[in-house]
Amino acid sequence: MKIQQHPRMRTILVGDEVYSYQLNLVARVDEVFPAAVCVKVGILSVNGILRFILSPQLWRADDIENLSVCRYCGSRDELEMEHGTGVPFRICSECRTTAPEKRRPPRGWW
Ligand SMILES: [Zn+2]
Repeated sequence: MKIQQHPRMRTILVGDEVYSYQLNLVARVDEVFPAAVCVKVGILSVNGILRFILSPQLWRADDIENLSVCRYCGSRDELEMEHGTGVPFRICSECRTTAPEKRRPPRGWW
């Protein structure tokens, strides 16, 4: 059986920031797999002493959105933060000039 790449994984590169809808967390991609990414999540460990550790986790492609590209067209040019959602989604200069109702739905969600 051939491993199929999840459509959302085509735009995700190592070093990109991704948002997990499951965990409401943002993390940087460490490794890319056909249908998941490996991220390192900073957590506070209170096991005896208080320490900040980076815990590797696998996040499924179905649960994440890439924050390092425009969420409407996938461009990496002239990105700005999209305000009002609480999540640092990015939008490019071209999609910013398009009326919100005429923008394509966020990539991978149609
Ligand atoms: Zn765009």
